[in-house]
Amino acid sequence: MSQFYTEKALQQLINQGKDLNSLPANAKFSPMARDLLRKHNAKPGTATSEAPASTPSGTPRIHVPVLPNYEYDWTPGADPKSAKDIEAFFYSPEIQALKQRICDIGERIWSKGYVDGNGGNITVRVGDNLVLCTPTLISKGFMTVDDICMVDLDGNQVAGTRPRTSEVNTHLGIMKHEPKAKSCVHAHPIYATAFAVAGVTPPACLIPEPEVFLGEIGFASYQTPGTPENAAEVGQLAKKHQSILMQNHGVICWGKDVEDAYWKMENTDAFCHAVTVTMQIGGPKQYGPDKLKELIEIRHKLGMPDHRLDELQECQLCDAGEYTVQTQPPASACSCELGATPSGDVDEAVVQQITDMIMDKLNA
Ligand SMILES: [Zn+2]
Repeated sequence: MSQFYTEKALQQLINQGKDLNSLPANAKFSPMARDLLRKHNAKPGTATSEAPASTPSGTPRIHVPVLPNYEYDWTPGADPKSAKDIEAFFYSPEIQALKQRICDIGERIWSKGYVDGNGGNITVRVGDNLVLCTPTLISKGFMTVDDICMVDLDGNQVAGTRPRTSEVNTHLGIMKHEPKAKSCVHAHPIYATAFAVAGVTPPACLIPEPEVFLGEIGFASYQTPGTPENAAEVGQLAKKHQSILMQNHGVICWGKDVEDAYWKMENTDAFCHAVTVTMQIGGPKQYGPDKLKELIEIRHKLGMPDHRLDELQECQLCDAGEYTVQTQPPASACSCELGATPSGDVDEAVVQQITDMIMDKLNA
C-alpha cells in the first residue's frame, strides 16, 4: 500500500534534511503537500540512490541548494482550443496552483501597501495565447482562486466568472514584446510612484543589489492606463527593462514567474525609498561607472542581459535615464574627456535638481 504524506509530514522530512526525491514513486500527497513538492522541485522516485553522508575519503557531502522555481512551461502549439478543453485546463490542479500563487502575491502587495482600493493587477502566462489575470474592481489582498480569470493575448476573456482587469492590456503588451516575460505585477507603491509622478528615474551607481537584480529601471511617458498606446509604449521598453515606471501612474515589473516579478517590484520601491531618504540627508554619493560595469558583468554571468554595456560608454553608465534629461549635466560634462571628474564624485547640480524636485513633491 502506498504511503500518504501531508504538508506537515513533508515539512518535517525537509527539516531533517531528507531528499524528497528519495520518497517512493507511488506515494500519495495532499494538495498542499504537492504544492510543497513543486516548491522544492522534487519528484519522488527520481533519486538515483541514497547519497552517503560522506564521500569514501571521509569528506562531508555538500548539499547543493535547490532554488524555488515557479516558472510555468507549456507545450508550444498545444493550447486548449475548444470551450470544454479550455474549461478543463482552467480548473486543472496545475492552473489552480498558479491561481493560488497570484492570490498570495496579491496579499503581499496589499500588505506592503503597494496597492490601494482596487489598484494593481497580476498576470501569469500559461500558453502561447493564454494568460491568467486578476479581475477588475477587487482588493488584491483578499482574492481567492475563484476570482482569477483567463484571457487570450488580445485581451479577450476566455475563462473565469469575474470580468478581467482593463489594465491587462499593458501586461499583454509586455508579453507580446518579450517572450521571457511570463508574469507581470503592476502596483502603485508610494516611493516608486512618486518618482513616476515627478518624472524621474532613480540615479544609477548608488546601491549594488538593484543594479544586479533589477537592472536599469525604464520610464514610460504618460498614456491612459489600459489603452493600446500604453501597452505599446510599455511593451517596447520591456525588452530592455524588467521594471518600468509609468509616468503619473505607477510601476509594472515582469519576471519568469510571479514571485520573480514581485521581487522586482519590491526591489524597485525599496530602491526609490532609499534614494528619497538619501536626498534628505545630504544627497547620494555615487560609486563610479567602473564599479557599475563590474555589477553589470555579474548580471551577465547570472544570465540577465543588460543593454547598457553595449549601448553606453563607461563614462555614461552613472548618468540618469532618458526622462531625467532636465536633471542631467550637458553631454560635454561626460567624464570620458581629459581632465574628467574622477569616478566616484557626484554631479552636485544633478543631486540638487533631483532633491528640489522630490522636496517640491513632498511639500506640495
Ligand atoms: Zn494602475
